[in-house]
Amino acid sequence: MSAETTTLTRRAGLALGLCAAASPWLPGFASAAPLAYTLAPIEIAPRVWTIYGAPEPITRANGGAIANITILDTGDGAVLIDAGPSHRYGTALKALAERLTGKPVVRVYLTHLHADHVLGATAFEAGTVSGGPALRGDLKRAGTDLTNGMYRVAGDWMRGTGVPEPGRVAEGGVETIGERRFRILPLAGHTREDLCLFEERSGLLFPGDLVFLDRAATTPDADPERWRGALTTLAEIDHSLLIPGHGPVEAGRRGIDQTRRWLDTVEARIGEGFARGLDVTELMEAPLPDWTDGLAVARYEFARSVMHLLPGLERRDLPRLAPA
Ligand SMILES: [Zn+2]
Repeated sequence: MSAETTTLTRRAGLALGLCAAASPWLPGFASAAPLAYTLAPIEIAPRVWTIYGAPEPITRANGGAIANITILDTGDGAVLIDAGPSHRYGTALKALAERLTGKPVVRVYLTHLHADHVLGATAFEAGTVSGGPALRGDLKRAGTDLTNGMYRVAGDWMRGTGVPEPGRVAEGGVETIGERRFRILPLAGHTREDLCLFEERSGLLFPGDLVFLDRAATTPDADPERWRGALTTLAEIDHSLLIPGHGPVEAGRRGIDQTRRWLDTVEARIGEGFARGLDVTELMEAPLPDWTDGLAVARYEFARSVMHLLPGLERRDLPRLAPA
């Protein structure tokens, strides 16, 4: 494991910290220092490195670096799975990938339209950035809202971040880059288009945010029924390691099973509460089963899911409650 700090060197950081501590009459000084992501790549397989996202919501402290990002050496250049939350992150990621592989970045696959995965893509040549058939149009339509939302939550980390314009479309099928073969599986459910990648030579499976592990799944654009279908497809892929969008990398299907269980639990709790006539605040505070204690941000994501999923339940069930 190694740590990279760009922009702000350790020495400069220490100096700023000392200055700030010694200068209480200048309270804004430390926060005016340039922000820098610390990228700590972990080699999960030969010549493949994952940078773990923080198991947290997006905050000003973590700069939106909450998703897992992976760098693969293909022999012919670096391939990235997702690009991180900001231009600043993408810039640090590009430097790290070039250093680890000794070659330029030749492909950045974007798994889906969520800010913590895509906004770092502006640091890469558009011709190397690849997403599902709908991604480019979706970014044109919703990209400004995505970046504005991130500026509000993460603040200065986002400086210089615009809307990525992927120059390539990843269709289903196999794309060979150097010694690696990426099988591209167009799935959906976490969002309306989730690109899953399976690198056939190493057996590494990248399901994007279709799989969360030990961290509650997010549902702002979810279609739970399609999501469950995608999880069934993923469960049939014989992989060596699964790299979830969020959470630890491991072999086996624990992430797939846990994500399904979380979706089932969230839907059932919201459905039961709704049927009992609970209002939104009461629903958000509904008890969660003990097993969810092992999931980071379970309560936070459950409350958000109430907001995301309740309107659909109301649309589906309210007419049936009306008098005939
Ligand atoms: Zn996502």
